[in-house]
Order: sequence, then C-alpha cells, then structure tokens
Amino acid sequence: MQLIDLDAVIAAGQSAPEIWGRLVETAVRHHASDIHMAFQADGLHIALRVDGRLVEQGVIPSADDAWRLLNHVKVLGDIDLGERRRPQAGRALVDVEDRQVDLRISLLPTLHGQDCVVRLLDRRVSLMSVEQLGMRRRELNRLFGLLASPAGLVVVTGPTGAGKTTTLYAAISRLNDGSRKIITIENPIEYDIPGVVQSQVNYRIGVDYATLLPTVLQHDPDIIMIGEIRDRETATAAVRAAVTGHLVFATMHALGAAATIQTLLSLDVPPHFIARALRGAVAQNLVRRVCPACAEPIPETESVLPLDDIRPLLEPGQTPRLVVGRGCAECFHSGYRGRMGLFEIMAADDTIRRLIDERRPAADIHRAAVEAGMITIQQTGKLAAFLGHTTIEEVLRVVPS
Ligand SMILES: [Zn+2]
Repeated sequence: MQLIDLDAVIAAGQSAPEIWGRLVETAVRHHASDIHMAFQADGLHIALRVDGRLVEQGVIPSADDAWRLLNHVKVLGDIDLGERRRPQAGRALVDVEDRQVDLRISLLPTLHGQDCVVRLLDRRVSLMSVEQLGMRRRELNRLFGLLASPAGLVVVTGPTGAGKTTTLYAAISRLNDGSRKIITIENPIEYDIPGVVQSQVNYRIGVDYATLLPTVLQHDPDIIMIGEIRDRETATAAVRAAVTGHLVFATMHALGAAATIQTLLSLDVPPHFIARALRGAVAQNLVRRVCPACAEPIPETESVLPLDDIRPLLEPGQTPRLVVGRGCAECFHSGYRGRMGLFEIMAADDTIRRLIDERRPAADIHRAAVEAGMITIQQTGKLAAFLGHTTIEEVLRVVPS
C-alpha cells in the first residue's frame, strides 16, 4: 500500500526539504509511528510503520538524491554530516498541520550507507488521560484502585511498542495535582509534563537508572516513575523505595501481569520484599482495529475460538457482534485501521502476597488473580472481538492462547 507516490515526487524534481515535508505530512496523516530510510544496493528504501507494520513506500535510486534527503534530515536533527561510520542521534520539533511533532532521529552505519529511523511523537496523541486508554469500566476501576495507593510498586509490562509509556504518562498525569512531588527517570523523556520533575538516563556518560535513583530519593519525591527496571540495582532500589512510603511506577519485561513477580525474583529481589512492595501489575498489548469502512458482520459459528466463556463478561446492553474487515481503499485492503489496547490488571491482595512470599510459580499467582476477578489479556481480546472492535485472528496473533 503506497501512501505517498514517491516516484512522482522524485520525477517532479522536488528538493530534499520538499520530499521530506511530504514524507512527514504523509506519516502524520496516517498515524505512522516511524519513518524508515535504509540504504540498500539499489538505492534508499523508504518505508513507514503504520499500526505496527512496516509499509514500503518506494526507493530513491540516485545516490545523490538519497544523500541530499538524508543530509537534510541530519541538518534538522543537528547531526554531523561528515560522520557516516558511527551511530548518530538527534531530535527535531516540526509543525505539521497545526500540531507539534517531535522527531527522534537515529542513524546506524550499514553496508551500503546508513539506516535512518525517525520516530514521530505526536504530543497531542500520546499524552492521554487514563480514561482514554481504552479500558473497560471494570479494569479502569481496578487501575484507579492502584493509583489511589499511598505507597507501593505498580508495574506495567508488555512488548516494545505496546503503549507502556503512554499508560505510565496517563497514570502520572492523573496524580499530578500539585499536592505531591513526582520525579521520573526516563530513557528518553518523550513528553514534557508540566509540574513533573523529569530526568533522563545517559548511558554514554555512565548515568543509568541505578545511578539516578539514590539522588531522586534524596529529592523528597512522593511518586517516582522509572522508565524500565532491568537490572538488580534498579529493582532493589525501586522495591526499597516502594516499601518506604513512595508510590513507584515502572515498566518491566514479563509475559503477563503475574509474571512480573518472576522477573523481580530473577533480579534477586527477596520474595518477602516483593510481597510487601507490590500493589499491582498491568500487562498490555495492542491489536489492530477492524476497519470501520469495510467491516461486515460474520456469524458466531465462524469464530475460530469458542466464545461461551466471554458471554458472562458482557455488560448490560452489550450485544455480541463478530465482524471482519473485507478490505477497502481506506484500510489499504488490510481490513484493519488503527489500534486499541488490551489490558490485564492484577491487584495484589493478601492471597497473592502470601503466594509471592512462598515463592510459588507465576501460574499459581495468575490463577489466584483470576479467582479474585482478574480478566486475562486473552479474555479482554476475545471480548473486544466479540464487540466487533477487532477479530479473533488478530487477538490470537498478538496474544497466543
Ligand atoms: Zn477497510
């Protein structure tokens, strides 16, 4: 699916700034998350990432034209033009159709030149409120419960690009009422939130999460947000902060809400410590939405999974309706357009605390959470399909059962 007619743009003899302007405009209009420009043997390949998938847009065959475009991007990002052998990075702020878009530019030296990836951060889209995350009322109330904790650890987990940062920012924004000091440690800082003290790791000069955390704690915070817990020092310091009266939010790699406990254990945090600190965990993922322009209802018998267990989860007034996108010009014949979040929210109750303390496997903790009313991410997905937002196939692709 071509979102921009690159050949025509090049044939028209447009300058590098004009081509770049067209590319950014197209990317913003189609809610692309990244612009990819990769030198291959036959020229500069240009692609956009839309709804999580890479969409090839064409090739600039002339090396001169290609470098002119890449150099224009490097100038925008204040990046050294003479350097082509080392990794480079920069950022720029551009106005597109009266919105501000933050560009994060990264360059990797490659066999045929450089690989340039530009991440687009649309300030208006990504700073969402908790209500805009797309949770059902029940999950939203659970999350509100976690946010109301005076202290403790709340972990958000999910694959890269699943919207973890968006969830953390939404949580922070809700708590940001001026009555409490909020300090973040991020990599990188994606949005400037007024009233929040934001700090950033800088690996190049040896400033990582573990180096910043002790100083952050000396700055008398009530709430701390840690971009990612992935080493022992950060895990221990985060848990210690959580048991000493701070509300700590962090992301972490784990397969599901209950599995975050295993991740903390694998980072050598003692189980009794985790049991005391953990308030809850949110697991999330993104699925593509069925294109509204070409959605067609299908009979329930065509579902590849039984849906009987989902029926009780329907809220009063909700009628099941399975749909599939037949494909049209609006969705470039993919049948999908846009994405939505799927969530699994575990609140740590006394039973779960005891199981953590006893070092029981994640499966036992997951089961206890379900018995206490947790809706699993698969169930959330099936429910979304049952309500005609996505398809069972898409849910199975993202969260295999
Ligand atoms: Zn369509």
